Amino acid sequence: MSRLKGGVFLPIIETMTPGYPLFVLAALFSVLAASCSKPAPPSLPEGATLIDMSADAAQGEPNANLSQYLSERDQEAAFDSFLGSLLDDAGIPPDMARRIEAAAAEGPSFILDLLVCLSGDPFLWILVDKAHPLPDGYAPADLVTLSEGSYEVNRPGHRLRQVAADSLEEMAAAARTGGVTLIASSAYRSYEYQVDVYDRNVREMGREAADRESARPGYSQHQLGLVVDFGAEDGSIGDHFAQTPAGRWMASNAGTFGWSLSFPRNREAVTGYRWESWHYRYVGRDLAAFIDAYFDGVQQYALQFIHEWVKRSEALSK
Ligand SMILES: [Zn+2]
Repeated sequence: MSRLKGGVFLPIIETMTPGYPLFVLAALFSVLAASCSKPAPPSLPEGATLIDMSADAAQGEPNANLSQYLSERDQEAAFDSFLGSLLDDAGIPPDMARRIEAAAAEGPSFILDLLVCLSGDPFLWILVDKAHPLPDGYAPADLVTLSEGSYEVNRPGHRLRQVAADSLEEMAAAARTGGVTLIASSAYRSYEYQVDVYDRNVREMGREAADRESARPGYSQHQLGLVVDFGAEDGSIGDHFAQTPAGRWMASNAGTFGWSLSFPRNREAVTGYRWESWHYRYVGRDLAAFIDAYFDGVQQYALQFIHEWVKRSEALSK
């Protein structure tokens, strides 16, 4: 029965992850199959025990059930070790890693949630931080200019990718229903624009402070066209945003609309940036939920995990 159910999942996985190595698919298949047949171990025939089957094997009779059972256990063990070292290399803290391993062992939800995220636009989950620049010369092809709708802009000309602009409108309409106005005060920044921003900060505050405040060109999430810096009532960007109605509304509701706070409070050691209560990245609803469910709402951890997952999958498929 477990294989029957696994057989339903396998084509889904293959569709979502074209080119995935057989090893990973087999491991996923095994996890999914095993989790569908709990509490009994997969393929152990009713009434039989491992000792019975070992006895058969000892008499020189090949036992298909035993080898099937053991091979599924081997695959599960292989997957557990694959996931464990991946979490480690992705820099996930031990307590969080243990919870993720437990969730992955409990049922297929974690892997399926991950695969749903991976099946979307890769720029929703691409890791862009101080160590991981965007592809050289990257500029989104579908930028649109924000026009005031349910939200306001602090000045004309801000641009976002279409998907983020649409979501911003939807989110701002919901905020407005609650009496809150969202103001977009910074959005897409080209590589060239970021050169100006960063250089100005270096001139004004020195390189060390500039690196806490702003990304070097090519390393800014703003270049994705999926990020908005939200302004306070006067459109200004700063720490005071957190205490405004918009700041509080975003902190509670942004995730529902697929927006994620990139640089949360007390996470500078993880993100490389000080708390920026105003800087939200559109990651889509699936990934926003994934970040909340397994990574304590810390976008950076989830993106590091996905980055490592994709890197290994690509390496294995070569
Ligand atoms: Zn920003």
